[in-house]
Amino acid sequence: MSSFDDMDAFEGAASLSARAMAARPQPYLEGLNPAQRAAVEQMDGPVLMLAGAGTGKTRALTARIVHLLNTGRARPNEILAVTFTNKAAREMKNRVGAMLGQSIEGMPWLGTFHAICVKLLRRHAELAGLKSNFTILDTDDQIRLLKQLIRAANIDDKRWPARQLSSIIDGWKNRALTPDKVPAADGGAYNHKGVELYAQYQARLKELNACDFGDLLLHVVTIFQTHPDVLGQYQRWFAYILVDEYQDTNVAQYLWLRLLAQGHKNICCVGDDDQSIYGWRGAEVGNILKFETDFPGAHVVKLEQNYRSTPHILGAASGVIAGNKARLGKTLWTDKDEGEKVRLIGHWDGEEEARWIGDEVEAAQRGTRGMDPVSLDQMAILVRASHQMRAFEDRFLTIGLPYRVIGGPRFYERMEIRDAMAYFRVVVSPEDDLAFERIMNTPKRGLGDKAQQTIQIAARANEVSLVEGARLAVEQGLIKGKGGKELGALVAGIDRWNSELRGPRIEMTVDDDAVLDEGGPAPRFEYGPPRLSHVELAEIILDESGYTAHWQNDKTPEAPGRLENLKELVKALEGFENLQGFLEHVSLIMDNASEDAGSKVSIMTLHAAKGLEFPMVFLPGWEDGLFPSQRSMDESGQKGLEEERRLAYVGITRAEEVCTISFAANRRVFGQWQSSMPSRFIDELPEEHVDVLTPPGLYGGGFGAASPSMGVQSNLHQAAADANVYNSPGWKRLQARSGERPISQPKESKNTVIDLTAVSSFTVGERVFHQKFGYGAIVEIEGDKLEIAFEKAGTKKVVARFVSGCDDIPF
Ligand code: ATP
Ligand code: MG
Repeated sequence: MSSFDDMDAFEGAASLSARAMAARPQPYLEGLNPAQRAAVEQMDGPVLMLAGAGTGKTRALTARIVHLLNTGRARPNEILAVTFTNKAAREMKNRVGAMLGQSIEGMPWLGTFHAICVKLLRRHAELAGLKSNFTILDTDDQIRLLKQLIRAANIDDKRWPARQLSSIIDGWKNRALTPDKVPAADGGAYNHKGVELYAQYQARLKELNACDFGDLLLHVVTIFQTHPDVLGQYQRWFAYILVDEYQDTNVAQYLWLRLLAQGHKNICCVGDDDQSIYGWRGAEVGNILKFETDFPGAHVVKLEQNYRSTPHILGAASGVIAGNKARLGKTLWTDKDEGEKVRLIGHWDGEEEARWIGDEVEAAQRGTRGMDPVSLDQMAILVRASHQMRAFEDRFLTIGLPYRVIGGPRFYERMEIRDAMAYFRVVVSPEDDLAFERIMNTPKRGLGDKAQQTIQIAARANEVSLVEGARLAVEQGLIKGKGGKELGALVAGIDRWNSELRGPRIEMTVDDDAVLDEGGPAPRFEYGPPRLSHVELAEIILDESGYTAHWQNDKTPEAPGRLENLKELVKALEGFENLQGFLEHVSLIMDNASEDAGSKVSIMTLHAAKGLEFPMVFLPGWEDGLFPSQRSMDESGQKGLEEERRLAYVGITRAEEVCTISFAANRRVFGQWQSSMPSRFIDELPEEHVDVLTPPGLYGGGFGAASPSMGVQSNLHQAAADANVYNSPGWKRLQARSGERPISQPKESKNTVIDLTAVSSFTVGERVFHQKFGYGAIVEIEGDKLEIAFEKAGTKKVVARFVSGCDDIPF
């Protein structure tokens, strides 16, 4: 029964069949504690489970679904169950099936708010002025559409970027505000034109039979509010409503749930006010705190036993979150064995941190930490900002450690990184037409389809590259106006950057008859050493091309993250001799990247880790400014800081057995060393739950001289710091010469595992070893690239410096 046609026939059908269902065995209840059982068995009326991390909220919610089905209280399609991610929805479905001991015939209403709303909207599209085959716009389409409207209104979209308007509109949609409901106080938005443009945008979407992401909820809420008959049907249909992670619902989601729950009033929400981490996206922690007012007579269940983490991990997390003022405060306990203390370690810089974590992961995998071997699936690295991932990805690729990035593309697949790389490619090789195609109008240079076609035709007609085609088109005045001018500047830029890359051309005064020793005519010119380092040049390319400014002027929430990723990219260049070497490295790792199946270590943001758990968790980058994030403190003050602290709590409570927090004394930003202070959250960790580790004695003398048992000092970060970096001669030197790379820092290349092996030392047929692919024989040598027939991994092309002769293997 998936439509409403036969819905009424089902009403009141609880009797005999339901009683027979209730007599079925209920093994899924057995593992639950009394409080969880109460939440499962209290089937009538509203239920709230407001409890700390790892107390079994999601598990109880899942058992409740099973119980409803097993006792015949509801059929699978009468249960509305909302999860935070599609992945969580899939897992919940599988678990329900497993607990029930049989496959369920589908739960169409188990999913995220968005997934469920798409279904509802397709059924009732006409009530929102759409056809049921409406399209859902992605962000790019959304921006393009807004731009058209902005221009039509004669607004300068440089001063008032479309992205800014789109995030204002998203904000209104999160609050369930249609254009006519936007409060007068918001009238000044987007230079007083926001509301008007919002109305135009909504009208245009209807003409296009389209909607954006925010519309999915907004339209359904509006339909429910304006069509009581439709709402009534669903109120009757959804016998039970269940919501996980309720603390992160926004106003629109809250209204939607409240409207639906007015029917049977069987709504069960679970959440934790301490884990509300989406305030920046419109989530209202107040929703969970006023549940009892919204649903009078609610049965409130408290869960206090944590089943996930050891006492030390729990103690550390509880200590940190206690620093927040705006919270209910909850008791958490566990009967697990004491386990290891939370490990805290300070590193010299971000690269060392990545190296150390890579070593730790490998050691755990081999079982050399005095523990049983831990599989990669059981380990996770949780970062505050996505740009932190790059160092781990590079390190793991280098040592051949399989990893997956959850909740976002891998670093080198991100849009801004691909754009920047395309610039580098054109500069290194102006014949790279694909790269030029990508950047010629990125950022926008006013080159429409026609202008781009003109360039293509000019290139083809003259059998030259696109860059040359563009030059011809400009010279011959084929592209007029702003587009032509900006294209001319781009071509001139490419010439300039390319000559900086090669170094200045030096004309030679040579006799026409002169020949070199090896024979052949003597060169008429040569290139001197480049004046700029390739890192400086990369920055110049991104600046002069307008690409950096493009993101600086962008007012959307993602823009700062994209800028940080670009900085991270420039930083990554430092590990290479030149741009070309870097581009090769990336193309090779991209080539090999997707091949690993099986167990992998997870890298994800703290936000994406919500609801998940792992035996071993690494929390790197605990430095003030990075975590807590400066941006969130600047934008939201004390509230922002408290949200960051909740994020710290979420992070620590993901760990079951081993939790390691780390920070680096130095991070390199745009080629400049910046010293950073350990996160203020580190000092909030209760000392009795923390072990301060000493990093391996990489730097001799000053570093690593202190022992881990030196005891807890006045504060933890001082202890961690004393145990290594801050006391070192290198640190002091760095402070004295800020902005420069400290000489004491080891010059090890970030991409080297084994000592660099000279390319020439390899011969075809030689047996070699590669960290990732194992043993193999060299088939072909091409410059510094080797084609190797690996014994297990098949034939692959790899960079020679990641390969060592079999005699060199250091074990
Ligand atoms: P979070 O706040 O992080 O979302 P949660 O409250 O939803 O956590 P769950 O993920 O449901 O917690 O449970 C945490 C862990 O404890 C899971 O591994 C779960 O299987 C286990 N667990 C939950 N309840 C029990 C129980 N009664 N007995 C044994 N283990 C349990
Ligand atoms: Mg949960």
